[in-house]
Amino acid sequence: MAPPRLQVPQPAELVRQSPFGIAVIDWDGVYESVNESYSRIYGCAQDDLLGRNFQQVFAAGRRAEILRLHQDFLRSGGSLNGLWEVQRHDGRVISVISESMRLELANGELHRLVYVVDVTELQRARSALEQREALLRDLTLSMPGVVFRMERDSHGHPRFTYCSARIEALLNLTADELLGDAQRLIDLVVPAERSNQKAQLLRCLQQQLPWQQEFQVVLADGTQRWISAHADPRVDHDRVVWTGVMTDISSRRRMEDVLRTSEETFRTLFETVPQGILYHDRDGRITSANPAALRILGLSFAQILGRSRIDPITEATQEDGSPFPLEAQPARRALATGSPVHEVVMGVRTGRGRDAWIRVSAVPMTRHGQLAGVYTSFEDITRSLELAQELRRQATTDHLTGLANRRAFLARLEEEFERCHRHPEIPAAVMLIDLDLFKQVNDHWGHAGGDAVLLGLSARMAQQVRRLDLLGRYGGEEFAALLPNTPLHDALQLAERLRAAIAQDPVPYRNEEIRITASIGLAALDPADPDAYAVLARADAALYVAKELGRNRISVADAAPTG
Ligand code: GH3
Ligand code: MG
Ligand code: MG
Repeated sequence: MAPPRLQVPQPAELVRQSPFGIAVIDWDGVYESVNESYSRIYGCAQDDLLGRNFQQVFAAGRRAEILRLHQDFLRSGGSLNGLWEVQRHDGRVISVISESMRLELANGELHRLVYVVDVTELQRARSALEQREALLRDLTLSMPGVVFRMERDSHGHPRFTYCSARIEALLNLTADELLGDAQRLIDLVVPAERSNQKAQLLRCLQQQLPWQQEFQVVLADGTQRWISAHADPRVDHDRVVWTGVMTDISSRRRMEDVLRTSEETFRTLFETVPQGILYHDRDGRITSANPAALRILGLSFAQILGRSRIDPITEATQEDGSPFPLEAQPARRALATGSPVHEVVMGVRTGRGRDAWIRVSAVPMTRHGQLAGVYTSFEDITRSLELAQELRRQATTDHLTGLANRRAFLARLEEEFERCHRHPEIPAAVMLIDLDLFKQVNDHWGHAGGDAVLLGLSARMAQQVRRLDLLGRYGGEEFAALLPNTPLHDALQLAERLRAAIAQDPVPYRNEEIRITASIGLAALDPADPDAYAVLARADAALYVAKELGRNRISVADAAPTG
């Protein structure tokens, strides 16, 4: 039996079954023939179309124009192919693409054969895609950086698959340039950082890590910029895709540079200033100390850190030697009052066991309007204070004997005279001691011999007077003693001891001995005297009497004349 003959559809059958809509339209625009697919596209039966004008599927306003296009095509060729918006039977508008051919019949009539495909769904998908793309474009443009996608190519190198338009403003590079060759980005990195930047990027790609990097670029026009790149990897089917942003962080880096520089400047200052600086927190605990502070205080950082006492040294003294009350210490005062305290002099015992003088200022620090702590700065003024003391001592001391000089003695006498006025019941006395025939000593032993006598006797007299008495060198070979809180007869006894101490023993000088005596004039301080000089004048008068009476003796002055 012969095999069944293969049924090959005949052309007419092909047209009937074609998934494309096929129609034949005459010169006047009347459908002569339509297949099923065609009528299905328009949502009607074939009979609803046959014998009718094809323009009816177009919007009413376009129908005349459409017929003219149809006839122009039949008359002179050209093309009617393309996308059209047409109306189905139910009024729904759809998109179709069509292709037309001219058919010239034997009798010369012209017909148009048209193929139609419904592309409404395709169009809808495309416009949705376009909208999504527009959204993405607008989004990326509104973002402060460049959005990108990146993959690892077969050589392990980066390959950019997407990059938003802002790349041009950021890197002076087009998106196409970057997508074409990722090396374009790496080439922009400053040479010193380039290989490091690339190595880090390759490592992220290799190990599928987030790419997070800050690098500096130099653009074609010489502009320098700091770029921050951040992209996270995500597995997309069989690939890993990094999606992220690149942003310009130049201004932040500049700010950081400024801060770092000022921080370094501050650090250097803190480390090198000769002033000691301590930071105290709100509770007064020391949280920071510079090297000068440790040096001045003779303490280690460990010894000083966290000390809860406000001031560096707990046993501080004031300038007059009295203890420094804790509440009055500068840092504590600044913390308590919120106001700065300036230049307070404190005596401190350093870690080396030495006494030092420091001049301290304390300044409260506020943060967000709140008292956050206080810092004290101080300098070691021991040397200058000692120098001042030495100068003061020199100004009040006789250089040869080390006793009080005339000026210091008079100042002290005046004070005592004032006191005597206020408290006449407390007695006091003054005496003038003049060496006898001192000229002869000079004549015989020379000036140096005379000096030796002055020096030897002043030491001897200083041993005789009491601690509260003041012994001074009043003139060349003339001494004076102020005896506070001393009745006249006690003063007389002291004068006698002095006289005897001088007369008893000679002063050794160059293996020899110089004998000398002294005469003393003694006067009680008397509120009846007009001033301290009047007291001295009475003592001087008594001294004169002692000389007149033969020297090496004591004479007591008369009381001050009253009235
Ligand atoms: P009198 O007993 O009357 O006081 O006799 P005198 O020689 O001490 O007389 P006067 O007081 O007039 O002389 C004091 C002498 O002391 C005069 C001066 O040369 C001497 N003199 C004063 N100051 C110094 C000094 O610093 N060193 C020495 N070596 N001599 C001095
Ligand atoms: Mg004299
Ligand atoms: Mg004399």
